[in-house]
Amino acid sequence: MVKAEGVHKSYGAAHILKGIDLEVAPREVFCLVGPSGSGKSTFLRCINHLEQINAGRLYVDGDLVGYRQKGDKLYELKDSEVAAQRRDIGMVFQRFNLFPHMTAIENVMEAPVMVKGESKAVARERAIRLLDRVGLGEKGGNYPSQLSGGQQQRVAIARALAMEPKLMLFDEPTSALDPELVGDVLDVMRDLAESGMTMIVVTHEMGFAREVGDNLVFMDGGVVVESGHPRDVLGNPQHDRTKAFLSKVL
Ligand code: ATP
Ligand code: MG
Repeated sequence: MVKAEGVHKSYGAAHILKGIDLEVAPREVFCLVGPSGSGKSTFLRCINHLEQINAGRLYVDGDLVGYRQKGDKLYELKDSEVAAQRRDIGMVFQRFNLFPHMTAIENVMEAPVMVKGESKAVARERAIRLLDRVGLGEKGGNYPSQLSGGQQQRVAIARALAMEPKLMLFDEPTSALDPELVGDVLDVMRDLAESGMTMIVVTHEMGFAREVGDNLVFMDGGVVVESGHPRDVLGNPQHDRTKAFLSKVL
């Protein structure tokens, strides 16, 4: 579903991603861990072309992200084509970024109506169903300010799902939450994983990674240091850098 081949990304002179190779299979829960500044968010942003890579190849569902290849030349996609690629990728951030002036239902309806031109009735019906799925069936009429952080994050997940993405990217979705609110969000993510969604999850929740993850990559300094089944990487890390990191978060 996602394939990175020698992906490099720099911001000016700062070389952030230094040749990332990895592959995420369909229906897989792929956990990405690593110290602050190692390039995890940057990598996620490259996957939905919020950032342009400087070298290498990045594919989502077999298509090059942001480019079309003819022979050995690459041509940039038009904005509308990039938008079409992004539509298939849901993203959930540390901060929920809900529209504050819209209710939960309206937040979830927004993209299908505005981006896909779906009828409000159809979008509303799906929004109600999705909010129910994330345990917020009763809260559809609430504004973000009337919801807890964990509830807001679950609305954000429902909002991403409303576009029926084939891939979901999570960037530390629970790290801004009070500890007692983390579990409900992880439960929603676990359900989503069980439903077969392909997910890339940047997280420090090692319990979640161990139980739900199919694969775990430890990244440091813009390179993949080691990867494997979460049980193996977390239980028996091979590299000193991984050991040092895990000793701080486990
Ligand atoms: P954290 O765990 O703190 O979220 P991260 O692994 O997600 O860290 P990134 O956010 O990808 O790290 O950042 C990697 C490096 O890239 C950092 O040194 C950061 O300062 C730099 N960086 C990120 N975005 C930009 C930008 N838009 N312009 C310049 N430098 C950036
Ligand atoms: Mg980050």
